[in-house]
Amino acid sequence: MATTTDAPATAARHAAGFLQGTKQLLIDGEWVDAASGKTFETIDPGTGKVLAHVAEADAEDVDRAVAAARRAFTGPWSKMSPSERGRAIHRLGDLVMEHAEELAELDSLDNGKPKAVAQAADVALAADLFWYMAGWATKLKGGTVNPSVPYLPGAEFHAYTLREPLGVVGQIIPWNFPLLMAAWKIGPALTTGNTIVLKPAEQTPLSALRLGELALEAGIPAGVLNVVPGFGETAGAAISAHDGIDKVAFTGSTEVGKMIARAATGNLKRVSLELGGKSPNIIFDDADVDAAIAGAAQGIFFNQGEVCSAGSRLYVAQEHFDQVVEGVSAAANGIKVGYGLDADTEMGPLVSQEQFDRVTGYMAQGREQGATPTAGGNAIQRDGYYVEPTVITGADASHAIVREEVFGPVIAALPFSDVDDLARQANDSHYGLAAGVWTRDVSKAHQLAKRIQAGTVHINTYHVFAAELPFGGYKQSGWGREMGEEVLNNYQETKSVIVAL
Ligand code: NAP
Ligand code: MG
Repeated sequence: MATTTDAPATAARHAAGFLQGTKQLLIDGEWVDAASGKTFETIDPGTGKVLAHVAEADAEDVDRAVAAARRAFTGPWSKMSPSERGRAIHRLGDLVMEHAEELAELDSLDNGKPKAVAQAADVALAADLFWYMAGWATKLKGGTVNPSVPYLPGAEFHAYTLREPLGVVGQIIPWNFPLLMAAWKIGPALTTGNTIVLKPAEQTPLSALRLGELALEAGIPAGVLNVVPGFGETAGAAISAHDGIDKVAFTGSTEVGKMIARAATGNLKRVSLELGGKSPNIIFDDADVDAAIAGAAQGIFFNQGEVCSAGSRLYVAQEHFDQVVEGVSAAANGIKVGYGLDADTEMGPLVSQEQFDRVTGYMAQGREQGATPTAGGNAIQRDGYYVEPTVITGADASHAIVREEVFGPVIAALPFSDVDDLARQANDSHYGLAAGVWTRDVSKAHQLAKRIQAGTVHINTYHVFAAELPFGGYKQSGWGREMGEEVLNNYQETKSVIVAL
């Protein structure tokens, strides 16, 4: 077993300090070993080599973390005023920005994504999420209500609603935006006054651990945010079934989301789910074709295509089909694929051997079913998990490449001629996370935005994420929304209080 980091030491200068030694669990504000003493390796997908050893939490560690989170919930966290709570969350946003390079390097090394992308997108969005959520701490409120009760004629009441935190929340996140997914989960849970047991993905545990440390530095009391890296089947399953946890928030695959929902029935803990997608990106005959081509390429190739809302089904008006396929293929061929820390890299490797096998498997299956790549279509022969940005034509609605989530840089382009049929095809999926519409016709754009069953519809743009905008899925893409005011519902109970006058 390798014992040292194999990452290029000079390139990783900002992250080098944090990468020293075995990373422990963060429970009750302390770094601790797993009760079992076990550790696991996290891999640099750009080289396939060991990046760090990390303590491996299982059920016993989750128990410890839940106990710490419960003490913090009834203790110091509940005694901080909303203003103090908000200011601590705001400071956490500041600290994320102060450590932007280090956090971007950690995510680049652990996930493979280009450092520049991590810094411009993941880190900046994470900081902004904390700043936005910090403001809500002082603005949470219930309302007054005037009840008319038919069986109590003439009775008068003063009634109001209270919004209260749920308690201890478990949060389980994926590897595609390690820091940002942690922020999306932690920010709203904290601002509403909950405490947290967070399990990052086994592939990318590092930035969440660093974030836990920064939370302490920001003045968030020990035990409010506990970080327990480990495996889904052990630590993750323990969180979703735990009787001491009041709510579980999950981002990941639809398959695991269903397992979480089932596990949560034991104590009927609240559940919110952000799951997979197979999002349609639609280019009409009256679109600005150049902008649409650029948007289609960005919609699928951003973050190696490892984005739940990736525009992976490209529907193009028949008359522009050849031009768009040629344009997106040229964009794919022009992408500089390389190691995440190299300054000129535009696309990194996939996150793991497993993900590499999955994506190359879909490429092969597409070919077997008669579809043709007009760009890419293959693995890249070098150490690490690199694949070519890929554009596929000749697939139809029955093909796996059109129906299933690939979660890689692979787009299937399909021609259409009739708007009603197009709307039917766009909605012909058990997913409903996002969509894109490219047209100069304002009425058509808004009409289609209403007809498409998706949590986010982009018009003449794609991949716009902002702390103010709710994000989440229709159908099997999930339950509930992240971000915006809407996410506060995921983390609060409403209590009605009635006073007879
Ligand atoms: P995954 O297997 O669902 O894993 C996600 C998280 O769940 C990881 O932390 C994982 O732990 C944990 N987990 C696995 N099995 C579990 C179980 N039985 N009980 C509790 N937790 C468990 O997904 P993935 O393969 O890592 O990520 C890719 C998928 O996530 C894609 O399908 C994508 O659509 C989806 N995703 C959705 C969104 C969204 O916002 N909707 C965002 C990102 C990704 P381990 O790491 O140990 O397996
Ligand atoms: Mg890794």
